[in-house]
Amino acid sequence: MKLDILVIAAHPDDAELGCSGTIAAQVAKGYKVGIVDLTQGEMGTRGTPEIRLQESAEAAKILGLAARENMGFKDIFFKDDEAHQLELIKVIRKYQPEIVLANAITDRHPDHGKGASLATNTCFMSGLRKIETQLNGKNQDPWRPKFVYHYIQNNYINPDFIVDITDYWDTKVASIMAFKSQFFDPESKEPASFISSPDFLPFIESRSREMGHRIHTKYGEGFTIERFIGVKDLFDLK
Ligand SMILES: [Zn+2]
Repeated sequence: MKLDILVIAAHPDDAELGCSGTIAAQVAKGYKVGIVDLTQGEMGTRGTPEIRLQESAEAAKILGLAARENMGFKDIFFKDDEAHQLELIKVIRKYQPEIVLANAITDRHPDHGKGASLATNTCFMSGLRKIETQLNGKNQDPWRPKFVYHYIQNNYINPDFIVDITDYWDTKVASIMAFKSQFFDPESKEPASFISSPDFLPFIESRSREMGHRIHTKYGEGFTIERFIGVKDLFDLK
């Protein structure tokens, strides 16, 4: 199945926190969007891999995703190396996305910057004819996405462009809250974590408000680019 947009995320919930408003906006326009989570987030303080897979499936429904899969790479220990690149190339060739949304280029959690460079390198390599891959016994065609954009995660990064997600704010929140094991729950008996504090979701809202404010809308999500984006009509810029 061909996708228009593939989101690559180091952990289940990275995509929801970083760019789910944008995903919902593009799905509403009729684009096919999928997420590939690199790990099951098994090193996270709360929850289990099984719970997080269920939560991912619930968030996928809320966002109207056409596909979601998990690479099963090792949380914390996965690398941007040949073995991981070859596995991820298969997924890029399988879905043939025009646009890839990838982790923040640098962040508090080391998997985020590592996920970003793995995605960037793999998108380039996937276009190389001489790297041969097979899926279900069939040779795959090379495929290079036109653009890789990086969403912004915990640490502030000045964006290169901002998507207006005002109409999709509620969907973003619902997709984040699908990860019940991760966020603030007064009933939870699990140990507290960085993101389970009651202050975490207001922080996400503040970030989205700040981004929205910069483009004169209520809520926004910022992205950084790898190469310049061009327009033919100045009025396409909002
Ligand atoms: Zn993460």
